[in-house]
Amino acid sequence: ELPLAQRMGRIKPSPTLAVTAKAGELKAQGLDVLSLGAGEPDFDTPEHIKAAAIDAIKRGFTKYTPVGGTPSLKKAIIDKLKRDNQLEYKPGQILASCGGKQSCYNLCMAVLNAGDEVLIPAPFWVSYPDMVLLADATPVIIPTTQAARFKITAEQLERAITPRTRMVWINSPSNPSGMAYTRAELAEIGAVLRKHPQIVIATDDMYEKILWAAEPFANIINVCPDLYDRTVVIHAVSKTYSMTGWRLGFAAGPQKIITAMADIQSQSTSNPTSISQVAAEVALNGDQTCVTEMCKAFKGRHDRLVADLNSVPGISCASGDGTFYVFPNVEGLIAKLGVKDDLELSDKLLKEALVALVPGSAFGTPGHVRLSFATSDKVLQESVARLRKIAA
Ligand code: PLP
Repeated sequence: ELPLAQRMGRIKPSPTLAVTAKAGELKAQGLDVLSLGAGEPDFDTPEHIKAAAIDAIKRGFTKYTPVGGTPSLKKAIIDKLKRDNQLEYKPGQILASCGGKQSCYNLCMAVLNAGDEVLIPAPFWVSYPDMVLLADATPVIIPTTQAARFKITAEQLERAITPRTRMVWINSPSNPSGMAYTRAELAEIGAVLRKHPQIVIATDDMYEKILWAAEPFANIINVCPDLYDRTVVIHAVSKTYSMTGWRLGFAAGPQKIITAMADIQSQSTSNPTSISQVAAEVALNGDQTCVTEMCKAFKGRHDRLVADLNSVPGISCASGDGTFYVFPNVEGLIAKLGVKDDLELSDKLLKEALVALVPGSAFGTPGHVRLSFATSDKVLQESVARLRKIAA
């Protein structure tokens, strides 16, 4: 038998995509599965963005572009980072990729060596550890609890740092917890990182615009501007403009790292789709009403869902700060139903209640599940009714 590369033994397919696929299979068999597994907004891409892409096709903007994005898309990204985030970048510090995911991957490949450690607070976005493993480095998971609102403390961070630590991931608001770090918390984390100049900071700001915390959005360089020279901001139009299928993300950071990331991209996938670049440019430069409307809808669903979930015996759900996920503790339900863990629970809920959700273990935090509320209130209500029935 032909062997595969050794690195294939280290990674697995994305568990969130796997749940969605499994739910899809059951649906195709005619079963009435309610899917709360989705990692994408349920809204349509706004019309003015689609129109720009159609126009791009019609005028023949369908060829290779510069690897890291067209000059006008880079300008739109620079303007966005200045307008929304008060951050200054030059075109050489910007890279447009095929989704935020590719920017994350490029970053890992650009800065990590075998033996390097990468700090990843759990619950984490499922791809961080596997990307680190693909880059031959070692993920070091920092656990959190619901009581700590799923956020690491400065002390935890300090304890996890070793001379081998090369990078740390910050994702706020977070997939899957929905929690956002406050400015005060970021200042404390920044104070620790300041003492360790070898650490690259990756701030994944994907859910910046889906936020209803008391404070407006801030990332670590807003709070600690002195960390600018070793921080890479990762972003995308995917979640903000309901454009997940267009595959357009971007990174902003130190020119040396961004150039290395672009070199990797130039030898792997080249430019992100020309048509998507035009669409993203229009999304970033255009009217932002669609963004505030989607956020408002998510907030309404969030509030109803959290209240509903907390009325189910065995489920305890904290209110989140943003995103379209909640991450309740289900240890009570696990005990009540006599299943082994969150994996068995999710399996049982899918088979017996026809509710698809993602086990917390996939995000490095057993005893919890992730529910996506990127679906209608009707589906959410019916899902909770099914959970209540099985918990009774
Ligand atoms: N980062 C986080 C935290 C995410 O949740 C996702 C998508 O699920 C991504 C990055 C990647 O997004 P994209 O679809 O732009 O590749």
